[in-house]
Amino acid sequence: MACLHCGDTGWKPVEVEGVQQVVRCDCWREALSGKLLDDARIPPRYRKCSFDNFVVYPNEKLQKAVVRAQAFADAFPVVEQGLFFVGSPGIGKTHLAVAVLRAVIRRCGARGIFRNTSELLKEIRGTYNPMVGPTESGVLRPVIESELLVLDDIGTEKTSEWVLETLNLIVNTRYNQRRPTIFTSNYEEYPESHGESLGDKVGFRMLSRLHEMCEFLEFRGADYRYFEHSKGPPTAADLLNMYKNQPSRPRETGRRASGQLKARFRESKSDVSWPGGKAGTS
Ligand SMILES: [Zn+2]
Repeated sequence: MACLHCGDTGWKPVEVEGVQQVVRCDCWREALSGKLLDDARIPPRYRKCSFDNFVVYPNEKLQKAVVRAQAFADAFPVVEQGLFFVGSPGIGKTHLAVAVLRAVIRRCGARGIFRNTSELLKEIRGTYNPMVGPTESGVLRPVIESELLVLDDIGTEKTSEWVLETLNLIVNTRYNQRRPTIFTSNYEEYPESHGESLGDKVGFRMLSRLHEMCEFLEFRGADYRYFEHSKGPPTAADLLNMYKNQPSRPRETGRRASGQLKARFRESKSDVSWPGGKAGTS
């Protein structure tokens, strides 16, 4: 059935101060955001994630992360920095990142894209063609050019020189072109003893650049993966209960020499000879 407002032309007549004009019809806007959402490559299990269905419970850092995510989504595209959600698996980092992405697509008609970091790297490697520059690659181009990129689960990929160069290329190009990015990672900056840090995984120079580009929001929380989903979606009380009963982490004494990590981070900041990325050169 044709749209009652515009007869499927996408333009509907309106009267502004006695003058007949046409404006975009809501049906056109909805069709556009539907198309943009399809193009955003959000994995099926996250496709319905929104702020409305993100369960918040008393947990200061989690609440702060939600507030900052919502503020980013409301302000986009006028944002100074991206967001970096850090914390253990299953606590809702990807949910929040997708909620922002979907909100921005719907409200602004922005071109946004979601990529799992390991899968993206695998795809770039699989299609790498030395005859065309890396930024011309069909895989890399939408990632670099999208108005909002979600790079999910950074740090889990097996580290190699090629991986770091390719990530540097993506991150630096977006930084230079002032395009915001939302990252998620399970790797904390100052992890428990024996754990690898975010700096170990992505390199300390990259970490320093990420701090320039993003507001870091580290939080802990109930692990959704352990919730009995057959009982229906968890309530705030369920999650608070799980969160409180989680085995407590070792305190500062158990944390890996954080002074050492901080020193490496400072060194990387004073290193001005940032080479930029040359993906695929090795
Ligand atoms: Zn219409």
